[in-house]
Amino acid sequence: MDLGNLYQDVILEHNRNPRNWGELPPPNDRADGRNPMCGDEVTVWLKLEGDRVTDISFVGTGCAISKASASMMTQAIKGKTRAEAEAVFEQFHAMVTGHHANPAGDATVGKLKVFAGVARFPARVKCASLAWHAMHEALHQAHSRAS
Ligand code: ZN
Repeated sequence: MDLGNLYQDVILEHNRNPRNWGELPPPNDRADGRNPMCGDEVTVWLKLEGDRVTDISFVGTGCAISKASASMMTQAIKGKTRAEAEAVFEQFHAMVTGHHANPAGDATVGKLKVFAGVARFPARVKCASLAWHAMHEALHQAHSRAS
């Protein structure tokens, strides 16, 4: 697979059929993200039970990269502990900003490696990381509310 190509089939498919689409009812935590440069907007809902993300969803508008990234983020984070979610966030962020030495060989990154090509397009880094930052914020909110 050529990870240099920005629009992988997987990305286009998630853009067409986003997973975990919709809202979670209160009192679950939510966080919004906006990327004015591209017009992307995303809201992420997250349910933290104990130390585990038992449910996560999103609604958003914007480009294919932002939507597919949000969709795959929810799949990657659902069921993870807080520490695991933070680890995936860090590796994903390192990858799209070009600071990950070997994303294809990193089990934490897994399927998310289809976003490796984003690192070559600085203007798209925000598109790819928007939902991740929102997830990160919602996770912090949920944790501080619970503790
Ligand atoms: Zn975008």
